[in-house]
Amino acid sequence: MFNVIMFGPPGSGKGTQSIMVAEKYGLSHISTGDLLRSEVKNGTELGLRVKSILESGELVPDELLIDIFKSAMEKHAGTKGFVFDGFPRTIPQVHDLDQAMAEAKSSISLVICLDVDDEEIISRLLKRAEIQGRKDDTEEVIRNRLSVYQEQTAPLIDFYKEQQKYVCVDGVGSIDDIFSLICGAINRLI
Ligand code: AMP
Repeated sequence: MFNVIMFGPPGSGKGTQSIMVAEKYGLSHISTGDLLRSEVKNGTELGLRVKSILESGELVPDELLIDIFKSAMEKHAGTKGFVFDGFPRTIPQVHDLDQAMAEAKSSISLVICLDVDDEEIISRLLKRAEIQGRKDDTEEVIRNRLSVYQEQTAPLIDFYKEQQKYVCVDGVGSIDDIFSLICGAINRLI
């Protein structure tokens, strides 16, 4: 299996690029943000519990996420590999993911980070708010999501650097140019 984590701050383009990577390499895309939004939309018990957390830009507690994450993985049993989009975001999630990978007799192959500065992110997400109307795309919530990223998620970078799995690409430019940089990083490994 080839398993890649798409990493980066909110609004760095992880979602768009993850879909393209999954399609090109025949991998299964798992976005925890999409999974959670669908729980909210369907009004499930979990959805009701996490709705206000998503709207505030805080992270959903790790223990609420792991079951839907694992069942999403199970739905793709037999896959050639995964593109993880928005997961892991905390150190406990790194360990949950390692355990899930070990159960699947596999491991993380590569972590690709999209490098985009804060002002570019804020302007992108405000534009996305006009198009998609996501409730967590207001300027105040975007700034909170960025500080949550710095505090809780950015520390994962050192962990994956130590494992020599971490690659950072320039996340500013055309979607196709950024995709070429990502493919370059993947092709060096497969
Ligand atoms: P995203 O679509 O990846 O930007 O995620 C949207 C929101 O879903 C985040 O701001 C969090 O509230 C929640 N979320 C998504 N993935 C995770 C995760 N791995 N851990 C905790 N919360 C998450």
